[in-house]
Amino acid sequence: HSGGHWQGAVIYRWPAGTQPTAETAYVLRRIIEPASEVVSRRRAYIAQRQARQESEKRALQLQTAAEIARETTGTLTLNDLLSRAVTLVGDRYGYYHAAIYLIDDTGFNVRIRAAAGAAQQELLSQGLTLPVGAGSVVGIAAKSGETQVNNQLISTEQTPVHTILKRTRSEMAIPMKIGARVIGVLDVHSDHEDDFTSEEGQVLQILADQLAVAVDNARSYEIANQAFQQARQRAQEMTLMFNVSQALSSAPLNPEEIAAIITEQFARVLEVPQCTLSFLINEDDRTLIRLLGAFGVIENPDQSAEERAFSLNDHPILQKAVDTASPIIAQKNDEGLSQHIKQFLQERGIQTLLALPLAVKGSAIGAIELISHQWPRYYSPDQVNLAMALANAAAVALENARLYEEQRQTAERLKEVDQLKTQFLANMSHELRTPLNSIIGFSRVILKGIDGPISEHQQQDLTAIYNSGQHLLNLINDILDLSKIEAGKMELMVENVNLNELVNSVMSTAVGLTKEKPIQLLVDVPEGLPEISIDRTRIRQVLINLIANAAKFTEAGYIKVSARLQSTEDDRAEIRVSVTDSGPGISLADQSKLFKAFSQVDASPTRKSGGTGLGLSISRHLVELHGGRMGVESEPEAGSTFFFTLPLQATATLKNEPVPQGVILSLDDNQQVIALYQRYLKDLGLQVIPVTDPAELLQLAFKYQPVAITLDLVLSQADGWKILEQIKQHPDTSRIPVIVCSILTEQSRASQLGAAEYLVKPILEDDLQAAVTRVLDHTSKPPQEI
Ligand code: ADP
Repeated sequence: HSGGHWQGAVIYRWPAGTQPTAETAYVLRRIIEPASEVVSRRRAYIAQRQARQESEKRALQLQTAAEIARETTGTLTLNDLLSRAVTLVGDRYGYYHAAIYLIDDTGFNVRIRAAAGAAQQELLSQGLTLPVGAGSVVGIAAKSGETQVNNQLISTEQTPVHTILKRTRSEMAIPMKIGARVIGVLDVHSDHEDDFTSEEGQVLQILADQLAVAVDNARSYEIANQAFQQARQRAQEMTLMFNVSQALSSAPLNPEEIAAIITEQFARVLEVPQCTLSFLINEDDRTLIRLLGAFGVIENPDQSAEERAFSLNDHPILQKAVDTASPIIAQKNDEGLSQHIKQFLQERGIQTLLALPLAVKGSAIGAIELISHQWPRYYSPDQVNLAMALANAAAVALENARLYEEQRQTAERLKEVDQLKTQFLANMSHELRTPLNSIIGFSRVILKGIDGPISEHQQQDLTAIYNSGQHLLNLINDILDLSKIEAGKMELMVENVNLNELVNSVMSTAVGLTKEKPIQLLVDVPEGLPEISIDRTRIRQVLINLIANAAKFTEAGYIKVSARLQSTEDDRAEIRVSVTDSGPGISLADQSKLFKAFSQVDASPTRKSGGTGLGLSISRHLVELHGGRMGVESEPEAGSTFFFTLPLQATATLKNEPVPQGVILSLDDNQQVIALYQRYLKDLGLQVIPVTDPAELLQLAFKYQPVAITLDLVLSQADGWKILEQIKQHPDTSRIPVIVCSILTEQSRASQLGAAEYLVKPILEDDLQAAVTRVLDHTSKPPQEI
């Protein structure tokens, strides 16, 4: 006994038939009692020592746990964290096997994520997955959130872990928890039976919970990092998109410029050292391709287009991208590469090549290559998709550039053709006009009786010739006008014009047009209309055209010319001029055709009135050049009103200042006569350049290309006739109308030689102005009265 407790017993045995005496028993008891004291003390000592050892071990375990926890915090990736932790656990505690399992996204399975010790590779490469719940120690720990210990394992147990880890005899699975939530399991194995104590379990539980927090942090960090990476990539994509679209929108670009922009942007944003863009030379051939642009490639600027061409057969990767119209990635260290491609990469020292087709409507017209020489380059699916989207945009831009170029070439050709047409018309008109002038001039001369008396019959015939000539001249002038307008070459000579005056002067012409019909001419223009900036001759031409039409189609009744000041819809002042007649009127359907060139309501050969169908078309163009509109209001049987408007403020196309209409060269011995001409013609905005030395005339004419030349015939230093001939014979001056201003009266000879006008000195202001106006503007010239 010790301290009142029974501690143990000493057994003495006596031979059979004998027994100890009471004294012996007493003595023996006295001997044993101190012994039991010793035993008891010894026992206490052992117990103490054990406890100390135990706590020392626990302290060591805890210290290790703290160390592991310390080592596994910080910005490790999840995988680094797990493998570091499991290696430390395995090493420090000397386990036969240690592993960390994490619950997967479904929540139904735990999956091995890191292992140390026996079979680590095997289990990891298998990606061992166990169901949460029944079946395995790990599964139960994951489900229950309680540490599970099996200290008597035998290798026949049928979980996958134990068929691989054959020497496992004890296993402990510790749930990794954050609060009550299990996120995984720390699993440790020993090849001894009964190796795991609950104390060890407690220490590992602390460690497992610390690990759980670290895993959670690493996960959040990874999520944040992923979000950051994604944001970064989006930003990159945006930059690329922005740069490319910016660059491509500042069109028109040629394909080379586009290729330069695209390759540079691809290389910069996808951080690839080299980028090239090639284009199929011929869409039917599809084997020949030409380098259009490159970034990061040392290019030879002297290389011609032909030298930049190569066969797709020599570039198996581009070929594949072009053939399949889909992106191709070739990695040099990819085992699955064809021999051909491998060799290609080898020869060019390329680690990674991404080939992107430039596809238009599903078929490739070229390709972009992104080349990495030094290091292999990994492209995420997102990056490839982005690159493809951009390649498509580039393809469209290139296709547009090609179409634009085609259009430009076509337009240029058309423009050339158009210029040729205009030139041709101008030449033809001139060629036609020259003989016509003779026909008109001579018939007039004969009609006037200058060459002697003529019979009535001759007079009739000559009048017909004269009128037909005039008609033809008008027609030619119309065509010339129209071609000028269409070529955008019609220039207005704007000046301030008093509309009352203009209408009055036109009316005097109108009288001649209507005098054979019972038609009353009416004018309704209020006094004091503001002056208006217009090209006097052109607006006169329009007005006469309208009056002439009215006179042509109206058999009886009236023709009225009116003008009004009115305001436009957007409150600007304009003048509306209209010509109303009591003629046949025009149906609505026909009205739409009127203003088209060469269109007539009655185009049948049996129609009553002649005409070209050009007048209204030209008139409308002229009005529109002034910033005005032209239109018609009419009903069959109810007469017609043709009107046009003219803005009061000059529009942008008009110039406020009277623009010099051109230069006139005046050849005369007498300087003062020329000074007079200068004064006369200043009002028409013409600059008169005096020429007193006849020898200089032709040179000056080449230089100034004057709108007309006035020519004196009687000169001290030369013969005016000769000069007239020279002007008319030289191709560079023959177009220039010559106004003869002489004291001689040799009109016929002058017009024979090609003079446009003939004025007999002394010349009055009106005469010269009229003559100049006539040569500058033939179309407004009404058929002359004879
Ligand atoms: P042109 O008179 O030389 O044929 P225009 O362009 O001046 O050419 O006129 C085109 C057509 O418009 C005329 O042929 C005629 O059919 C019709 N037209 C023009 N003015 C009138 C009008 N005042 N009354 C009836 N028809 C007209």
